[in-house]
Amino acid sequence: MTPASFEYHAPSSLQEAIKLLSTLGEDAKLLAGGHSLLPMMKLRFAAPAHLVDLGRITALKGIAQVGNEIHIGAMTSEADLLRSALIADKLPLLAEGVALIADPQVRYRGTLGGDIAHGDPGNDHPALMLALGASFVLNGPGGERVVKADGYFLGLFSTECAADEILTQVRIPIPAAGSGWSYSKLKRKSGDFATAATAVLLQMQGDTVAQVAITLTNAGVTALKARAAEDSLRGQPLAEAQIEGAARLAMGICAPMADQRGDAAYKTAMFGEMTRRALHAAAARATR
Ligand SMILES: Cc1cc2nc3c(=O)[nH]c(=O)nc-3n(C[C@H](O)[C@H](O)[C@H](O)COP(=O)(O)OP(=O)(O)OC[C@H]3O[C@@H](n4cnc5c(N)ncnc54)[C@H](O)[C@@H]3O)c2cc1C
Repeated sequence: MTPASFEYHAPSSLQEAIKLLSTLGEDAKLLAGGHSLLPMMKLRFAAPAHLVDLGRITALKGIAQVGNEIHIGAMTSEADLLRSALIADKLPLLAEGVALIADPQVRYRGTLGGDIAHGDPGNDHPALMLALGASFVLNGPGGERVVKADGYFLGLFSTECAADEILTQVRIPIPAAGSGWSYSKLKRKSGDFATAATAVLLQMQGDTVAQVAITLTNAGVTALKARAAEDSLRGQPLAEAQIEGAARLAMGICAPMADQRGDAAYKTAMFGEMTRRALHAAAARATR
């Protein structure tokens, strides 16, 4: 199907884009890589009267270390993230996750900001951002605000980003040296969304867990933080019994939607398995 007709706008600055959004109101949609929005428009699930393309705003692209954080422009593509030596070195969890997103064609156009702003629980960045403790910079007519990933995802396709705001930058604290990481993603075939996926970021102190983040992709209407599973591991050895306990607690918060990837019971069991695998892999990578 072809999309309903729309007017195309290509601002060259952030200020111009914000002004356009304010003037055009609810009839306008931002266009980033287009790999979620355009399929929805072709299916007529979305029919915006105006598209405001962020592609010419060069200030929204780029990856830099600023103090103890990595700052990434919202229009940075998945391919740029994969090519970045800084991301590979400082944020290997993100590098591992990005490599599992879609296929090279989608990763070439799809952007970090679009993946987060879309609010799709099947997307991989929301859970990765929760695990990494990221913050998002939102710019709108009222100025700039910074919101934490934890609390940003409100519901299915619903986020803290207001209709007249633009997600401009993602800020990620660099994990402590020696942290272990893993993004364990089960998918039916290469290029598919997650049937179940778990992100783990882990700090060990000797044989004891000092800090751990466990987050889930496609387990509910938003990415989920498995807080009880995290709490159960802090201060504990990472032995089989503790890993099994954490996997069970993670399964306990899952409410996945049945679809062609499986029913809810199968998917919930797979979240247990992805959590076990991610914890084992992160433990093997962590320095004690
Ligand atoms: C075949 C296929 C497989 C895929 N598999 C995966 C996968 O495995 N994992 C995964 O994570 N994703 C997957 N995707 C989704 C893909 O990563 C999309 O690119 C991503 O969801 C949206 O990013 P985009 O830049 O294309 O955004 P767009 O499609 O342009 O925009 C998406 C939404 O976000 C809004 N938006 C975009 N940028 C901003 C911004 N800066 N501020 C505020 N709002 C904004 C838009 O208005 C729109 O509502 C897949 C897509 C396809 C087509």
